[in-house]
Amino acid sequence: MAKAKKYVYFFGAGKADGRADMKELLGGKGANLAEMVSLGIPVPAGFTITTEVCTAYYENRRKYPKQLKAQADAALARVEKIMAKGFGDPANPLLVSCRSGARASMPGMMETVLNIGLTTQTIPGVIALTKNPRFVWDAYRRLIMMYSDVVMEKAAGIEPAEDQGIRRQLERVMDQVKRQVSAKSDTDLSADQLETLCRHFRDKVQEVIGKPFPDDAQEQLWGAVGAVFQSWNGRRAISYRRIENIPDSWGTAVNVQAMVFGNMGDDSATGVAFTRNPATGENVFFGEWLTNAQGEDVVAGIRTPNPLNVSTKSEHTAHLASLEEAMPETYKQLVAIRNRLEKHYRDMQDIEFTIEKGKLWMLQTRTGKRTGPAAVRMAVEMMRERLIRKEAAVTRVTPAQLDELLHRILDPKAEKNARVLAKGLPAGPGGAAGRLIFTAADAVAWTERGEEVVLCREETNPEDVEGMRVASAILTARGGMTSHAALVARGWGKCCIVGCGALHVDAHSKTVTVGGHTLREGDWVSCNGSKGVLYVGKLDTVDPDPENPLLVEFLAACDKVRKLGVRANADSPHDAATARKFGAEGIGLLRTEHMFYGEGADVPLFKLRKMILSKTPEERRAACDELFPHVKADIKGTLAAMDGLPVTIRLLDPPLHEFVPQGEEKQRELAQSLGITLEDVRARAEALHESNPMMGHRGVRLGITYPEVSQMQIRAILEAAAELRAEGKKAIPEIMIPVTCTVNELKDQQALVEKVKAEVLQKFNLKKLDFLVGTMIEIPRAALTANKMAEVAEFFSFGTNDLTQMGFGFSRDDIGAFMPDYLAKKIVDADPFQTIDQEGVGELIKVGIERGRATRPKLKVGICGEHGGDPASIHFCHKAGMNYVSCSPFRVPIARLAAAQIAVKDAAAKKGKKSKKGKR
Ligand code: PEP
Ligand code: MG
Repeated sequence: MAKAKKYVYFFGAGKADGRADMKELLGGKGANLAEMVSLGIPVPAGFTITTEVCTAYYENRRKYPKQLKAQADAALARVEKIMAKGFGDPANPLLVSCRSGARASMPGMMETVLNIGLTTQTIPGVIALTKNPRFVWDAYRRLIMMYSDVVMEKAAGIEPAEDQGIRRQLERVMDQVKRQVSAKSDTDLSADQLETLCRHFRDKVQEVIGKPFPDDAQEQLWGAVGAVFQSWNGRRAISYRRIENIPDSWGTAVNVQAMVFGNMGDDSATGVAFTRNPATGENVFFGEWLTNAQGEDVVAGIRTPNPLNVSTKSEHTAHLASLEEAMPETYKQLVAIRNRLEKHYRDMQDIEFTIEKGKLWMLQTRTGKRTGPAAVRMAVEMMRERLIRKEAAVTRVTPAQLDELLHRILDPKAEKNARVLAKGLPAGPGGAAGRLIFTAADAVAWTERGEEVVLCREETNPEDVEGMRVASAILTARGGMTSHAALVARGWGKCCIVGCGALHVDAHSKTVTVGGHTLREGDWVSCNGSKGVLYVGKLDTVDPDPENPLLVEFLAACDKVRKLGVRANADSPHDAATARKFGAEGIGLLRTEHMFYGEGADVPLFKLRKMILSKTPEERRAACDELFPHVKADIKGTLAAMDGLPVTIRLLDPPLHEFVPQGEEKQRELAQSLGITLEDVRARAEALHESNPMMGHRGVRLGITYPEVSQMQIRAILEAAAELRAEGKKAIPEIMIPVTCTVNELKDQQALVEKVKAEVLQKFNLKKLDFLVGTMIEIPRAALTANKMAEVAEFFSFGTNDLTQMGFGFSRDDIGAFMPDYLAKKIVDADPFQTIDQEGVGELIKVGIERGRATRPKLKVGICGEHGGDPASIHFCHKAGMNYVSCSPFRVPIARLAAAQIAVKDAAAKKGKKSKKGKR
């Protein structure tokens, strides 16, 4: 006969059926309790009912598997033996707790029942054992309260009217008794008074629920087990799972464990601790404890807990006795357990303990949650201590935690208490506070007066760029993650929230209205750009330390592990320097057009405008000649800043009309310079108007229509490189042709490259010049015909902003109108402009790489769309076999981390596969 399935796992007295790696079956709590027992750590004996029982219970109309009762009885008998007590035994009663424990921690989302086994028959026995009637009646009143609420009401599906739940009703009974006897707090009630209270409680339960409070230990136990399983599908637990993406199918385990009491007098205590400081990461034992208390008293905040040891006393807790001072022997034992657990789990643990009459018991251990700075510090220090290897260290910090170290952020404490005004897309990282300003010019004027400002616009355009640069944060009502504001802000590492649809911005009256609340120019707001949350008022901020040696050491470990290269999207020598500071190994995208925006751009912009409005090739060539030295100087500066690292320079991409002057003064100036009338300028500008500029005359199409524009840029790039070489410096430019859809476009531009190259070689008397010519793959047709594109292109860079736009047919600047509904209705899982859509756009990328490399096996492939800084997309790029990702300078560290994490995951998966094969 087949062996009956094991539903119950025992633990106690040095023996355990389970292990730490059985979290799926035993839940986190159960698996770790078993592990601690096996390590010889004192844990009250108990047993875990598996998550499979929970699943079976729901699949089988809330019935338990047949063998469960017998297995649980057997385990309980072992617990009784170890504890030398009997469950329900009037002379020598054992009490147990019943707690939930899912695979992933779901703090406070499910139920717990303590003190199970207290009945009218066992109470005298417990009083005789403890010689403490007050304690026993207090435990009984807690049981009635918890049990009637959790088991008799919630699990039974009773939905009481507001404020009429059994717990509230019992609380009122208790208040009444306290008033009658003039007791200020619960602890003022005597044993007799508590006994009377328990009688009232039981009467109230009968009256409200219509059933007597169970007076049988077994009935209490199975009622509690059922209630824990029921709580898996309680409202709180379900919504928590939705938020945390925990599958419903996982189920919870139930842990039944002998009770130990921290509230048995002054030689008893309870506490929670972290094996290292979870806020700073410092390698010091850190925690809180209370004498004569139960676990919930420490976390509930009713009494101020004492510090665990002398070294972690603060200004506020200096006067309180530490455990180290009050119970030195027990403290020593706890420190030994702390060291044991850290060494064993090789990570910071969050532990719970209880001291019952001087005896220490461990009730829980789990990996502790930590702040970003603490995560980095622990990873590095544990690596130095040789507790973990670099491969493990890089998995210990999440990208969001790393982000906390890279930008100024809102003070988390201040943020917790702040009022949320609106939510938008998290377009630029970090946090900032400032006074609301509605135009770029005002932003400049106010900052010149020394004010910090938040520039609030319906949406931004290139003309706002000066205001954007000076603002502490940028806030827009419209636009998506690849909108102008988002791209620019991210490039600068500036805090930015876009697509904040609830804002009604009125730049005219300089007000913004959100849900009936109107804010005016000068009002303070604070932005969390990493989460996309806008707050009212001025919140404090915390500055990062860019030279943080721990961060440098952590990222160096990431670099040793990762396979993907990491470059930056940088448009100027200044950006290039920032990129290098953050560890970029090259520039993956230099958008040449950016030299025409912002400070110092007036002269080149004027010349560019002249070129755009030229009518004849001669006029255009002359304008190009004027523009040439500016373009060359700009590129040379960036090449020099990168000091021999590759720099991918993209030829002009945007539709030309974006550069046409709108104001009359600028138009007049241009007319004068071109020797034409103002009307002429307007007419020529009008002629550039397009219905669909994003799919109009842009990218390579400009270079095909105006070869002299491409030639000027190619010459600027090659001459800049040749000059650097002549100066004894290294430069590796990569000329990138944008928005291509057929190899014929590449052939056309390649001919120009060949022509210019010959001229430059001759001019500089050189035999060769190191550079590459490649293309962006950002149109689906280009991806599908990649085998042909690679006949000319020596590298591909996936422009996933446009590839997503054209793959989905979603305008990247207009998704704000419908994307929130698409996300809410789960039509898409994530905004495809933030995270690569692997199913569709990802397929285009994979096909592109495969076909490209079929033609040119060593084809270098990268990504330069905004997805290059998104961890999930970086994982995809690694798996797709790209050589590098490129993202804004401030996201380079995140990319280094994400690339390392996927490399570790990939290597582990490959190792797993190999060892499975070996076993077959
Ligand atoms: C892209 O399309 O992904 C890209 C990088 O180019 P841009 O955002 O400048 O269109
Ligand atoms: Mg593009």
